[in-house]
Amino acid sequence: MRLILLGPPGAGKGTQSQRLVAKHGIVQLSTGDMLRAAIKAGTPIGQKAQDLMARGELVPDDIVVGIISDRLDEPDARKGFVLDGFPRTVGQAEALDRLLREKGLQLDAVIELKVNEGVLLERIARRQSEMQARGEAIRPDDNPESFKIRLDAYRRQTAPLIDYYRGKGQLESVDGMAPMDEVSRGIDAKIAATRVERVASG
Ligand code: ADP
Repeated sequence: MRLILLGPPGAGKGTQSQRLVAKHGIVQLSTGDMLRAAIKAGTPIGQKAQDLMARGELVPDDIVVGIISDRLDEPDARKGFVLDGFPRTVGQAEALDRLLREKGLQLDAVIELKVNEGVLLERIARRQSEMQARGEAIRPDDNPESFKIRLDAYRRQTAPLIDYYRGKGQLESVDGMAPMDEVSRGIDAKIAATRVERVASG
């Protein structure tokens, strides 16, 4: 199974991706997590990404496309994957289409988590205090200033992907405002429906 989860920061892509991993034995490919790991390891990619990420801006397309291309070739991605936070620009989506074609892979669905922007800042603030309570390091971009820039980047650069995938007939939308378990059920229903469609169309 190969999926993309689309939605603004704080929509719940990470949480739902982890559930899909547990349920379907696929891998979660989060470019945000990979970039944070690169920063921690002090790699050249990490050094390039660090300040941009802390400010809430996107890192250049060629960097994330390179990371994803390599990651798709790892053996554990063969069973399937859920892309979380990638693609984030039309350029990345086009590059992904090319990569998948070259690798002979097809997407099963692109699932949009629909949320009201009003709740996002609250969710991020909650995540911050929960992480703090657990004694975990707080993300340098989980502050109101960076969050505003992240949301703006989403609106301007990522939201157009909704039409991009709708135009290709691949878009499914799920209400991301519902309780977490309900969102998971909504995603499962969409996955099941695309499977039925595929079987029916041979
Ligand atoms: P969120 O979705 O909550 O904003 P992520 O962990 O997905 O969090 O991303 C954090 C940051 O990592 C982004 O603001 C951006 O700077 C960088 N990043 C992650 N994925 C991409 C991507 N596909 N393209 C460009 N930048 C990315």
